[in-house]
This record gives sequence, structure tokens and C-alpha cells, in this order.
Amino acid sequence: MTTSSSVPLADDADSDRLRALLERAAEGADSQAWSDLWTELYHNGSLDVAHPLVLHTLIDMAEDDHADTAASALHLAGALLVQADQRCETQNLRNRHVSQVARLLAAANRWRQDTADRNVYCHLIEAVLNLEGDIHWAQELIWGVVSEEYEIECTNPGGCASLWVVIGERGFFSAVGDYALSDDVETFPLHPADPRALEGLGHRLYDLARADGHDEVARALTYAFGEATCPECKQRFSVVGQVIASCS
Ligand SMILES: [Zn+2]
Repeated sequence: MTTSSSVPLADDADSDRLRALLERAAEGADSQAWSDLWTELYHNGSLDVAHPLVLHTLIDMAEDDHADTAASALHLAGALLVQADQRCETQNLRNRHVSQVARLLAAANRWRQDTADRNVYCHLIEAVLNLEGDIHWAQELIWGVVSEEYEIECTNPGGCASLWVVIGERGFFSAVGDYALSDDVETFPLHPADPRALEGLGHRLYDLARADGHDEVARALTYAFGEATCPECKQRFSVVGQVIASCS
């Protein structure tokens, strides 16, 4: 009796904690609540992503008229669905909530056309890709555009050191080692893709960013979908190819 009754009590406590966190997040401007939701739902899994409150509340936030809260809700929802896709025990989350996912995707596509903030825009694009569910590496792709650098491995099977691909205000180059702290680090210029030659996802995202008025994001994407030179073996390789390889 005591054993069996303790389980629902624990579940109730989790539900209460989840409800409280979602309520705080919905009020906006509570970055700690969002950080806790990412930790508990995404990183640690200490709260249940399949709890009915999760998608239900995130949809409410996404369809409300508070841009920042909507963007945060869409970013988290997309990440949770992709993570669930990759975990056998929650693989059906997306399939069980087809209409909710469609509503989230529609909201993400509305908000992306509406935001002027570069990083919010990037996270909305990430949400669109995650909600569509065709690729599982949108987070890693967009991470590099937001942070203006990728840390990736060279394709050389001999194993060169991992390298930095820098895309943004500090320049457009590849380097080994801590390029930010030293002027002595040798850098190699990147080779952006010609926008007219982009195909597939690169072509689509480039056109989307241009159409949405984010030319600087579009430009960064030509580098993400372009090539970098390994500072050690001097081989050129696809940046996005190595981003994908790091996720498989
Ligand atoms: Zn190399």
C-alpha cells in the first residue's frame, strides 16, 4: 500500500513542478523558468515530455501575441520533438500529436516573417525545421549561425585536430586552437557557396532568409553550406557535411 501510493505522489509532484514552470515561462521575461524547462525536459529528462501539459501549454504560448514567449515556446517544442524522435520510448510523440505539431509549425512560420531580431529569427528557423521533422541536425546547424562559429572535425581519417569555422563579425575563416586569444593563430579563408549554386535545404533556407529580410543570416548560410580548409592537412571539406557527421 505504502509502496504503490508513493508513485502517484511523485507523479503529482512532477506535474505540479511542471505546471509551475510553464506558468512562469508563459508570463514572459522569466529566463530562469525557460532555462529550467530546457534542463528538466530536454537535457535531464527529469520531467516527462509526453505530459499533456507540455505541448498544450507551448501551443498556447506560440499562438498568443507575445513574440518573445512564442519564439521561446516554439524553439523548445521543436527541440523536444526531435529529441523524442530519436528516443525509442517516446518515438510516437510526433505521431500522436499530428494536429498540435501542425499548429506549432504554422505559428513558427508566422512568427519568422515577423521578427527583426537576428537570433530570434535563427531559432524560429530551427523550430520550423524541427517541427517539420525531416532532419535531426537543425539545432547544430543553427547553433553555428547564432554563435558565429562551428567546432568540427576534419574529414581526414588520419585524424587532424578539431578546428574552428568562424562565420561572422570576427571574420570568415578556419583555424586550429584558440584564435580568439592569440594573434599568432594561422587562419584560412572560408569558401562560401555561390547562392545560385545552392541546392536542397541550403537553397531553401537562403531564399527564406532573403525573403524574410535577414540578408546577414542568408550570407552566413552560404558559409555554413560552403567549404572550409583544414589548417593541418589543408584539405577542403563541406562545413554542413561535418556538422551532420557530428550528429550521427
Ligand atoms: Zn585535416
